Amino acid sequence: MFQAIRTLLEVEKRLSLHPRTRLCPLFASTTQQKRYFTSYKRPFLHSASQPAPAHTCCFPINSASSKFVTIASVNMSSAVEAKKTSKLEFQRLPLNAVPVHYDITIKPNFDNFTFEGVENIDLKINETSPNIVMNAVELNILKAVWKDSGTGKEQVAQTISVDETTEIFTAAFQPPLQSGTGTILLEFTGSMNDKMKGFYRSKFKGSDGQDKYNGVTQFEATDARRAFPCFDEPSHKATFNISLVVEKNKTALSNMPVKEIQAYPEDDKLHVVKYERSPIMSTYLVAYCIGDFEYVETTSSDGVLCRVYTPPGKKNQGKFALSVTAKVLPYYKEYFGIAYPLPKLDLIAIADFSAGAMENWGLITYRETCLLVDEEETSATSRQWIALVVGHEIAHQWFGNYVTMEWWTHLWLNEGYASFVEFLCVDFLFPEYDIWTQFVTDTFVRALELDSLKNSHPIEVPVGHPREVDEIFDDISYSKGASIIRMLHRYIGDADFRKGMNIYLTRHQYKNTFTEDLWRSLEEASGKPIGQVMGTWTKQMGFPLIRVQSEQNGDTRVMRLTQEKYWADPNLKNSKEHNDYSWMVPVAFCSASDPNTPICQTLMEEKMVTVELPGIRSDEWVKLNPGAVGFYRVRYPPELLVEFLPAIKNKILPPLDRIGLLDDLFAMVQSGESSTVLRTLDAFKNEDNFTVWSSISNVMSKLNLLFAYTDYHDQFKKFGIHLFSGIADSVGWEPKEGESHLDTMLRSLVLLRLTSFGHEKTIQESKRRLNLHRNGDQTIPADLRPVVYRGVISEGDEETLEMMLKMYRESDMLEEQDRIGRSLGLAKNLNVLKKVLEFAISEDVRSQDTVFIMISVGMNKVGRPLAWNFFKENKKFLGERYPSGGLIARLVKHLCENFVTEEDARSVTEFFAENPFAGTERTVQQVVESIRLNEQWLKRDERLVGEFLTNAI
Ligand SMILES: [Zn+2]
Repeated sequence: MFQAIRTLLEVEKRLSLHPRTRLCPLFASTTQQKRYFTSYKRPFLHSASQPAPAHTCCFPINSASSKFVTIASVNMSSAVEAKKTSKLEFQRLPLNAVPVHYDITIKPNFDNFTFEGVENIDLKINETSPNIVMNAVELNILKAVWKDSGTGKEQVAQTISVDETTEIFTAAFQPPLQSGTGTILLEFTGSMNDKMKGFYRSKFKGSDGQDKYNGVTQFEATDARRAFPCFDEPSHKATFNISLVVEKNKTALSNMPVKEIQAYPEDDKLHVVKYERSPIMSTYLVAYCIGDFEYVETTSSDGVLCRVYTPPGKKNQGKFALSVTAKVLPYYKEYFGIAYPLPKLDLIAIADFSAGAMENWGLITYRETCLLVDEEETSATSRQWIALVVGHEIAHQWFGNYVTMEWWTHLWLNEGYASFVEFLCVDFLFPEYDIWTQFVTDTFVRALELDSLKNSHPIEVPVGHPREVDEIFDDISYSKGASIIRMLHRYIGDADFRKGMNIYLTRHQYKNTFTEDLWRSLEEASGKPIGQVMGTWTKQMGFPLIRVQSEQNGDTRVMRLTQEKYWADPNLKNSKEHNDYSWMVPVAFCSASDPNTPICQTLMEEKMVTVELPGIRSDEWVKLNPGAVGFYRVRYPPELLVEFLPAIKNKILPPLDRIGLLDDLFAMVQSGESSTVLRTLDAFKNEDNFTVWSSISNVMSKLNLLFAYTDYHDQFKKFGIHLFSGIADSVGWEPKEGESHLDTMLRSLVLLRLTSFGHEKTIQESKRRLNLHRNGDQTIPADLRPVVYRGVISEGDEETLEMMLKMYRESDMLEEQDRIGRSLGLAKNLNVLKKVLEFAISEDVRSQDTVFIMISVGMNKVGRPLAWNFFKENKKFLGERYPSGGLIARLVKHLCENFVTEEDARSVTEFFAENPFAGTERTVQQVVESIRLNEQWLKRDERLVGEFLTNAI
């Protein structure tokens, strides 16, 4: 799944994640872990001969000798603490009956948004037992009949019950079912909800201007059970035959191609579309879509029929994604050494969609803004984003669908890997994007930021109750997962990496895996101790800070490295857990004589190591972590750091190393190791690389949020304008003939940043251009519209807002609506901001987009208290609209994390203690931690930075 909906050029580009911290257990050994996650949590159904095993104290306690530690969250109110400890009881499904094949017929009714279902599940009964237990929720199950395939005897269930809390459906039979095989017939009804999960309805405007609906599915992680009763755990793989009873004029799609279409005798307006049998797969990957769509199609060079389905009238907007798909399939076939196993691959744009995209096997669903490209209306940033998302979902067809994690604890295997491979794919298709450099600012740094909190969590995180699953679709699973796979890829080399991947995919095809299975395959391919090294990165949270000392000994540079855990909060360096952390770190160096070639790649296995680098002159700088590949921060003493400045100024250091140095230094400022980064920024004034500017922009964006609370905010903004003015003059407003993709993105980035500093000339030019655009005199290129919209609204009044809302309502392209929506919160006028918040929850805005408009208000200092109060006032509405994780967690994060006082931290803690929102627990803890870090940071640096700015301007 592509959970994060973000674009590289969001003004404040820290959109991410999810919630909850608890005492995460860590496991002394793989065996112990496997036992816990499999047999221990899967008691067989009780029978007289086999009572259920005891089910208390699920989590092994950390022992003092445990190598890996995770810290429990602190600074929480007792109410939150109490909630944390009252974790929901959870057991995995028993194994007395397991599914082999599902035959499912669904008949939706679009008049009242309900559906009827008939399902035959072929089961293997492993032991005599009275109950068949599976998952179901919000379904009305009318009938359950067992047919034994040996005897042919039918048996109606004595009782049927659905526990809506545990989401467990039980059909009880008397006499008990005998071991063997048979089929359970189930009849049920359900509703097509508007919550974007299960089998739900998605609204669109028909050609007559009326609201119409499509019926679509979103099952990951645990919502297939809302559409049909099933064994809704990834390890319960089975084959599926789907049939849909639909109106003849509707498009109806499922994972597999249509096998046949039959008449529906009871209503001649309907027919029954039957699909081919699927390969063996997990329930969360089943999908079907019914509605009004059109498509473009092609066949890839490896013979797969590819189609992109769009809303009516927009099929041309599917062409870009179609061409990416047709090229990616043979690329992955070659890369993995395994062909795409299905005969067709459909990609479909869904108007109401909570995530970014979902990798259902053979039928990938996308938010419109993650799939559709209009030649005039789509920005370069969006086009790049769409290429990444398409590459990500198609990677899952192998990594996730063909081989699937055994349980959600190993979700990162799916997401981390797909988030790595999407970059491989885009680098292959669009080398001009220089996408691996962007990986560092977009993925790597995001992961480091989140993972520096004490309320982070390990990549492998125990997951129990279904409601906990949504919480781990966060930047740890995705971005840290991808970052450590990138580090691993470099450590073992591409050839062994590919070989290992092929071993893994071939050995486990159509099966389920644990993280260790991947390590074993890579170990076989490379002969390196992968499990031992990588365990230190996946089983404990956080990452190392490596301190560098060096001395010259003749023509040898002696480097002394020490590692310790990096904390955003400097006080935690004194905690007793601090010394328990250690990592096996692949390290490398580069030097002034050849900055592009790493030297002396080695494994740092101890907390302190000394590395001797022969042939280094005494006047040469030596840099650790070339290419920002290793997932760690580096701290140089000031005298070493200063040596890099000329190499930054004259750009002898490669872009990734310029970014790495800047971002590490910024992290040192955040954690109190260094006082300011502003002085160093001066060295970047001649910079011309998009991604380096993107990194500078991140730093300035965070500081702009923080310093908004100081007396010298105006001076800071002047400093920002000064810093960006040179590059702004050079990129200008007018796109240059034949300019590169990155030049186009650089222009948007620089002008956006100037707008955020209140640069008057940029704002005036925005107003002028919007007038021309609205008069039809000069269309604003899509890339510049965020700049113009934000510039105009930042000084706008209620009339300006009305004008922009009119543009929002009149646009039928969701990308354009998204651009306008995310700009609205930049207004400074309080009345305007109040109206923006009301608009966000109005009928004019889709639920999937509400949160981003509210966030835009919360990112503005003036709007922050308003947005937070608005959230509190509308808690009931928002809680019902977003019943779990995902969007609501993101909203909470961005509304609250930029507050800066203890009073705010307490207010947030208390509110959520009294009003818990499902799937936001960890987010709340992270947000409160961030608020306290902001406060500390301001107290620590406020005076010094003020003095610097006074002298600098
Ligand atoms: Zn994914």
